[in-house]
Formats: sequence, structure tokens, C-alpha cells
Amino acid sequence: MKQVDGEKLLASLGEGVNQLRGRLTPDASMERVTWFQAGGLAELMFQPHDVDDLVTFLKILPPEVPLTVVGVGSNLLVRDGGIPGVVVRLSAKGFGQVELVGENRIRAGAICPDKHIAAMAMDNGIGGFAFYYGIPGSIGGALRMNAGANGGETAQRVVEVHAVDRQGNLHVLSREDMGYSYRHTKVSKDLIFTHAVFEGYPEERATIRAEMDAVRQHRETVQPIKEKTGGSTFKNPEGHSAWKLIDDAGCRGLMNGGAQMSSLHCNFMINIGHATGYDLEYLGEMVRQRVFEHAGIKLEWEIKRLGIFMPGREVKPFQGAATE
Ligand SMILES: Cc1cc2nc3c(=O)[nH]c(=O)nc-3n(C[C@H](O)[C@H](O)[C@H](O)COP(=O)(O)OP(=O)(O)OC[C@H]3O[C@@H](n4cnc5c(N)ncnc54)[C@H](O)[C@@H]3O)c2cc1C
Repeated sequence: MKQVDGEKLLASLGEGVNQLRGRLTPDASMERVTWFQAGGLAELMFQPHDVDDLVTFLKILPPEVPLTVVGVGSNLLVRDGGIPGVVVRLSAKGFGQVELVGENRIRAGAICPDKHIAAMAMDNGIGGFAFYYGIPGSIGGALRMNAGANGGETAQRVVEVHAVDRQGNLHVLSREDMGYSYRHTKVSKDLIFTHAVFEGYPEERATIRAEMDAVRQHRETVQPIKEKTGGSTFKNPEGHSAWKLIDDAGCRGLMNGGAQMSSLHCNFMINIGHATGYDLEYLGEMVRQRVFEHAGIKLEWEIKRLGIFMPGREVKPFQGAATE
């Protein structure tokens, strides 16, 4: 049974949509967007042609319509009832560019893959970006998640972030404005990042190449990167590794329906066949329960869960979460 009705929402937006140059898709499949390849529909997906097109759309979108932005879906779990309202997915044409903008500075559009920044930095002898080589997300996702690995993180490299708010107003934010902490920014969830400027430092190309190779080799060995996954399921609690807590609680390889905690890296959840959003989220809560019972620690989701449940298939937060 369909929980969202994209055609109805599109019709309610009226004639204003005729001036848009981007693509509007009612009832868009989120299975095709997310790395998990699971979950329900986006009620209405908008892929803006460029920043002006995004601004025009936001100005005609009634304030009561929920708005969600996604990147390339490498950190998303979409619930089976779908995502009500509009899902904005930036187009590669309008938001995918990466270019040098000064000594050791790189400007990247928000849908640009992290890997492309790493490659551009290497080609130009700019150090500090090799960690991006192994993260499969986009720059928008990296800015929102403060993505990081191998001792590097987005917060260290960002100089300025350009964004659009829910009303279609443009903003420029400094690194300080972003208020970064571990896998978190304090800025409003309503902001859509459009592009950002990053700064590195001079470094030998051969050194950067070696760093990137090491990042790739390490990932191929310890992460299930060829599986349908959402990356790290839970954040590392202060002073602990999430994978170790999960392992110690006996959850390595634990399954629920088509979902499993990877045997290779047990903080990675994988879709081993036809997992639903329910299978994945329920498994996550089972793991939280067991880790809490075993170690007294409440794991916090790193994966972003979006949308609504199918009736009768709700997932309740685990018992120990009552005080969250
Ligand atoms: C195999 C694998 C390995 C991974 N390894 C790492 C790792 O080492 N380190 C790490 O940090 N992460 C890792 N991840 C997780 C993921 O790649 C990062 O969190 C990434 O930054 C998410 O980017 P995305 O484009 O996929 O965002 P999505 O998953 O699409 O979205 C994630 C969040 O970002 C928001 N967002 C996306 N674009 C924008 C935008 N333009 N404006 C505002 N908000 C936006 C979304 O609303 C959502 O809240 C891994 C994932 C996988 C599948």
C-alpha cells in the first residue's frame, strides 16, 4: 500500500512549476538512490538544474510541505512508508563541478563525489585530502556529516560553505559557523549546501599517491565495500569502538530478514538480499539492545533514518533508549 502520493503533491504546486528547469519525479524510488537499495518512495523528487532553479523552487514550495535533501545515499536508511513531501537531489550538471580556485584551494559542488576532490588535490600537489579517497559519499553529505577517516575530517579542510535555506535565501558560512563535532554540524537541518571551498597544503604528489593507495588497500581489506551497505551504522561512543562493543555483545553476523551485521566489519549493516527498511532498522535496534545489556552503553545511530513506517511495521527504539 502506497503511503505517499506524489501526483497529488505535484498538482497542488500549481502553474509555478512550469518555470523550473530541473526534473520533478512523483513517487520516486529511493531504492535506486540509497546504497542499501532498500526503502520506500520519495513523494516528489526535485533535481534542480542549478542554484537559481533551486531558489525558484523553494520560493514556490508552500512552507508546510516537508523538505529533505539527500546526497548519493551512502549514509541513508529510508523507511518503507516512504518520505513525505519533497526530496531534493542535486543534479551532477549543476552541482558536480570541482576546480582549483587559488593556491591550495579547491571549490567543489555539493554532489561532487569526495573521491574527485582527493584526485584533484593529488594532481595539483595539495595535501590533506587523501582521506576523502575512501569515502563513497558526496561533498554535501560530507559537509552535513563531517565525514572523516584515517585521521582526517571535513572540518579540518573547509573554508567556506554556500547554502540555501528553506525560504530560498542564500547563505555563506565559515568553518566556525558550521560548528563541527564528531560526525555532526550544529547548523540548521533546513540548509541545503550547494558548494564549498576547501584548503589544503603543499605536498609531494608521490606522497599523496601513496597515502591514497594505503587508504584504498585498507578499506578493501576491512570493509564490505562491495555490499549494499550504509557505512558505519553507529557512532563510536566516547572512548570506545562501536564495532568492538557490537562484537563483544555477540552481534557479528547477526541477521534479521534480509539484513545482517557484516561478518567482515560488524559495525557495517548489509542488505544481503531483499532487505526492507524495517529489516534494517529493526536489526539496528536489536544490536543497540544487546550492546546496552552487555556493556551498559547506548549506541547512537550514525546512519540517517528518513521517512515513515508502513502501518503495522513500526520499529520502536530499544528499551534502554527510553531516557534518550
Ligand atoms: C562503504 C562505505 C564506507 C563509508 N566510510 C565512511 C568513512 O570512512 N567516513 C565517513 O565519515 N563516512 C563513511 N561512510 C558514510 C558516508 O559515505 C558519509 O557519511 C558521506 O558523507 C555521506 O554522503 P552522501 O552524499 O552519501 O549523503 P547521504 O547519505 O545522501 O545523506 C547523509 C546526510 O547528509 C545530508 N545531505 C546530503 N547532501 C546534502 C546537502 N547538499 N545539503 C545538506 N545536507 C545534505 C542528508 O540530508 C543526510 O542527513 C561510508 C559509507 C559507505 C557505504
